[in-house]
Amino acid sequence: MYKFDAVINNKFIEGKERLNILDPTTLQTGGTVAALDEQDIDNAFLAARAAFPAWRDLTLIQRINYLTKWNELIAKNREEIAKIMTIEVAKNYKDALTEVDRTVEYITYTLEEAKRLEPMAFTGAGYDVQNKYAIYERLPKGVGLAISPFNYPINLAMSKIAPDLVMGNTVVFKPATAGSMTGSMLGKLAVEAGLPAGIFNVVTGRGSVIGDIITQNKELDFISFTGSVDVGHHILEIASTKDVILELGGKDPVLVLDDKNLDFYSDQIISGAFSYSGQRCTAIKRVLTTNAIADKLVPLLKERIEKLTVGKPMDNADITPVISPKAADFVQSLIDGAIKDGATVVIGNKRDNNLMAPTLMDHVSLKSDLAWEEPFGPVLPIIRNDDINELIKIANESVYGLQAAVFSQDIDLAITVAKQLETGTANINGKTQRGPDSFPFMGIKDSGFGVQGIHETLLSCTRLKGIVINYK
Ligand code: NAD
Repeated sequence: MYKFDAVINNKFIEGKERLNILDPTTLQTGGTVAALDEQDIDNAFLAARAAFPAWRDLTLIQRINYLTKWNELIAKNREEIAKIMTIEVAKNYKDALTEVDRTVEYITYTLEEAKRLEPMAFTGAGYDVQNKYAIYERLPKGVGLAISPFNYPINLAMSKIAPDLVMGNTVVFKPATAGSMTGSMLGKLAVEAGLPAGIFNVVTGRGSVIGDIITQNKELDFISFTGSVDVGHHILEIASTKDVILELGGKDPVLVLDDKNLDFYSDQIISGAFSYSGQRCTAIKRVLTTNAIADKLVPLLKERIEKLTVGKPMDNADITPVISPKAADFVQSLIDGAIKDGATVVIGNKRDNNLMAPTLMDHVSLKSDLAWEEPFGPVLPIIRNDDINELIKIANESVYGLQAAVFSQDIDLAITVAKQLETGTANINGKTQRGPDSFPFMGIKDSGFGVQGIHETLLSCTRLKGIVINYK
């Protein structure tokens, strides 16, 4: 069984209490992490504050050198990190390895991109411009709090932490409870890499004890949060800083507008909907199409679902247990509700506690919660309507606005529809997904605000400082 400690000021903190981390596959304890208290959290923020001036005042290249060493250790420990992820979030081993490798690349690119953020210089234009010249520097914001969700324990963590640090901020990082072992491992590797004390602190613990405390600490300058809408909005209400980025949930629709390449569309839809058992913010969470297309598409989707393997993360099953029995009960309640409202189960609707068979539901009614709620599990509803404008309307009626996808061989039509979709991003002839990592990534409506992505995150954790020079 794993045992990890929190990291504050480069010291390993066991905590007065320990928190058990559930292995979703065995439903037994997979390891323990520190359950910190209010004093520990204060210490973490004080350490981050104290470390800030010296870290900020290093040269960019010095910071890059430190972070490169850390990144090398992450790469060296890829198998171990992936194994921890199979235990605490039940991600299959192959995908967990891919996540680690993608993160190492993400960090490398981030460190490169930081070099390209040049200071800016302006000469005046407009009113009162004579003999004025200004230079703008990009400065770190200070002490950042990074909060990540369970589903990408290393990628979504490091895609906040690496940019924050390279730009000269210091960080307090709070991983999700499922994900705390991976998060603590990052802290351990940071100490091993010789990062200066206090610049990166990992705090773990019970939400009921530390949840509201971390976002209200007076040393906090900015928050980058990824997680659910409810928690994100709660943080917005109580946070001590108004400088918050929220990356929240989604109900990404796919609009299938013709039947010209249904094999390809089906491959994309199945991978978009069911990878990591649908527990992705950008997972495809509803298919909107016409009756004629649905009649041909549904059997193709069913055929592919039949081929998905259901089982254990270390066996590289396509479908692994969802994060907890409670999460599975919620997915089940959406399926049951849709059946009551007249939907048909094409395949699936079987479960062994939190190991759920991939489920395809057809004729899902707009009355059903399954049409609107984010299940975060392996269920895909098909919603039929013969009017394309109605399909667009249904897509836009969601409170979410993360991503959408449009499948059509008529590229003009696809672009016209994509432009009308109220989402941060619309993909044409490809599944919804975050990335490439250098692309901006953002949600609108309840899916959040602020922009992530390698370049944008570097900008978002910094502020501009201008010096205006008046000369004769
Ligand atoms: P969650 O909201 O339950 O938890 C997210 C994080 O917030 C965790 O670290 C959790 O411990 C922490 N938290 C909980 N209560 C808190 C409080 N009061 N104060 C501060 N932190 C608190 O989300 P989850 O179940 O871990 O992740 C799933 C959700 O995340 C889904 O809705 C998914 O769509 C969303 N998500 C969004 C993106 C994106 O980039 N838009 C990416 C991945 C996941």
